[in-house]
Amino acid sequence: MNLTSISTIKDVMSRNGFNFSKSLGQNFIINPDICPKIAEYGNAQKGFGILEIGTGIGVLTKELALRADKVTAIEIDKRLMPVLSETLAEFDNIKIINEDVMKCSLHDIINEEFKGLKVAVCANLPYYITSPVIMMLLENNLPIKSITVMVQKEAADRICAEIGTRNAGAITVGVNYYGNAEKLFGVSRGNFMPSPNVDSAVIRININHDRRLDENQEKFFFKMIKAGFSQRRKTLVNSLSQLGIDKQEVYSGLRNIGLSENSRIEQLNMEQLMDLSLRLNKS
Ligand code: SAM
Repeated sequence: MNLTSISTIKDVMSRNGFNFSKSLGQNFIINPDICPKIAEYGNAQKGFGILEIGTGIGVLTKELALRADKVTAIEIDKRLMPVLSETLAEFDNIKIINEDVMKCSLHDIINEEFKGLKVAVCANLPYYITSPVIMMLLENNLPIKSITVMVQKEAADRICAEIGTRNAGAITVGVNYYGNAEKLFGVSRGNFMPSPNVDSAVIRININHDRRLDENQEKFFFKMIKAGFSQRRKTLVNSLSQLGIDKQEVYSGLRNIGLSENSRIEQLNMEQLMDLSLRLNKS
């Protein structure tokens, strides 16, 4: 079945009484060149199990299953279950789990589904939960090699920005703490049905499992990052006061790493951010 053909999509949808849900971010890929590329960049190959988030009618799921040993996909929309039984009927290496990705135990799923396999995540993510999904995947310390996802172009630019520049945000620091992110290619809005009113891009995060901070230091680091970027135009001295940190401590922390007392969080690179958080962490 050609799952990028508009007439096939319309046909399978009407046969199953399915219509698009805007609130679930349902924009399905209709360009046949895109999913094979995501699969290939995303480690879909022999020896790998792929965890997919959000199947739609299965257009990416199918390309993943053609290349990897196994695909386990989590899809929240119950109405897509009969659709997927039809569109993916020819595959015996795909399992669909009808759940909300934010509510299931991915550790358990990975342990049960991918025994003896290396694991990677691939998805065309729904826009409304891009950052929460990416951070949840990273913070859970899952045994995964990479996360290759399509996201809104602006989110891709922010995630892949250089830390210490105005384009970076809390998500940039979060992603770069756990790995390194690269933008792979852009995808314009006309490649989806229905067409969204934004463009997209595919990024890959290669996970680094050697953490640089221990659990306690990590907790404080992310508290500092959230507080700093939630008031990014303020000086760190002011934005960190919401954490109850004494201004004098921030002044001296900044001075000790050779920075101006008036520095804003967006001016610090990764090493400086970690250095400052280690100096300020009294917990
Ligand atoms: N992979 C398909 C494609 O590329 O055409 C569909 C991608 S569509 C942008 C996002 C998919 O994620 C939809 O099928 C939607 O129902 C599903 N979804 C939305 N929120 C979800 C959640 N919290 N957990 C799991 N799936 C979700």
